[in-house]
Amino acid sequence: MSFSAVVVAAGVGLRAGPGDPKAWRLLAGRPVVRWSVEGLLAAGAEEVVVVVAGDRLAAADEALAGLLGWRAVAGGETRALSVQAGLAALSCGGAQAVLVHDAARPFVTRAHVERLLAALAQADGAVPALPVPDTLKRGEGLIAATVSREGLSRAQTPQAFRLETLVSAYKAWPASEEPTDDASVVERAGGRVALSPGDPMLMKLTYPEDFAMAERLAGAQRIVRTGLGVDAHRFGPGDAVTLGGVKIAHDRGLIGHSDADAGLHALTDALLGAIAEGDIGQHFPPTAAEWRGVSSDRFLLHAVNLARAKGGQIVHADLTLICERPKIGPHRDAMRARIAELLGLRVDQVSVKATTTEGMGFTGREEGLMAQAVVSVEMPA
Ligand code: MG
Repeated sequence: MSFSAVVVAAGVGLRAGPGDPKAWRLLAGRPVVRWSVEGLLAAGAEEVVVVVAGDRLAAADEALAGLLGWRAVAGGETRALSVQAGLAALSCGGAQAVLVHDAARPFVTRAHVERLLAALAQADGAVPALPVPDTLKRGEGLIAATVSREGLSRAQTPQAFRLETLVSAYKAWPASEEPTDDASVVERAGGRVALSPGDPMLMKLTYPEDFAMAERLAGAQRIVRTGLGVDAHRFGPGDAVTLGGVKIAHDRGLIGHSDADAGLHALTDALLGAIAEGDIGQHFPPTAAEWRGVSSDRFLLHAVNLARAKGGQIVHADLTLICERPKIGPHRDAMRARIAELLGLRVDQVSVKATTTEGMGFTGREEGLMAQAVVSVEMPA
C-alpha cells in the first residue's frame, strides 16, 4: 500500500534540557529529524512533509540535504496546527494512507510501517501501542493511589490514517483543546482506531538520558549492503578511452552508446545493486537518444542520488579494470580522485585495481575491456 508521511519537528522539547530542540540534535552524527525522515523514505514513503518552526526552514534544508522526496513547511503555534499545516502541504489524494510521525522517534523502520498499514486496512486509523509493564502510581512525593494498568497501552508514532479522515477529524476538533496525539482526534470524531503492536525501538527521545541510550542503539540500526557491477565495452577506432572518469590517450577508442566508460558503468551497477534499484539499462535505456555520447558521470550521480534518497551513505568502492592496454597504473590516482568526488567519498575509501587476462579471452585479444566493481552502502536496517 502506498503512503505519504508528515513528520512533526516543530516542537521546542524543553524536557530534553538546554541546547537545540531534540529533533535537531545529532544522533550518531546525524540530526534526529534526519533519522526519522530517512526511515520513512526507506520504508517507501511517496512524499514526506516535514513540519518545522518557521525559523528552521533553512536548518531543515541543511539537516536533510541530499535526501529526495521531502519538503519542509512552517508549523503553527501548537502540535495540532503543525500537523494540519503538514497535511495541507501533502500533494496526494484524500484516500491516500498518511502516517503522522514525531521527529523525535528516530528508529522507525519498514516493518513498523507495514504493520500499521495492514492494521489501517481494517479501521479508520492505526496506532503502534505497547503494554504498560510498570505499576502505575498517582501522587507527588507520597502515593495517593495505585492505578490499575489493566487494558492500558502506551501509544507511539507513526500513526496511520486516510488523509481525508484525519483532515475532517481535525476540522471537528475544538480549538480550545490540545490533543496529545492524532488518534485521539479521530477517536473524538467517531473513528475506529486500531491498536497495532508497538516496539520499544519507537521510543521518543524526551529526556537528556534518552540520547545516551539512543546513541548506543543507533549503531544497530544501520546495515551495510554491498552491490556488484560488471561491464564490458568493445574497442574501436579512436585516439582515447575514458575509464574511471579519466580520459586516457590510447591508439583505440571504446564503442558504446554513451562515452563507454566501463569503469563508471560497473560502479553505477554496483551501487544500484547495493540499493536494489535495478540496473543501468533500466534507468538509462541504450535506445534513448538523449544518452548518446554523454559523460557517464551522469549515470553514477543518478545512482548516488537514489542511494541518498533511501537514506544510504556510500562507504566504499572497489573497481577492477581488466585489460592488456592501456596501462592503468599511471592513471590510478586520478581515477580514485574522480570517483571519490562523484561518490562523495574520501580518496582512501576508493580503490582502483587493474589486471590482465594474460592474453586469454576477449580482453587478452584486445577486442575490448571489462570492469568489475563492488560498492558498499550503509543504510537504514
Ligand atoms: Mg557499459
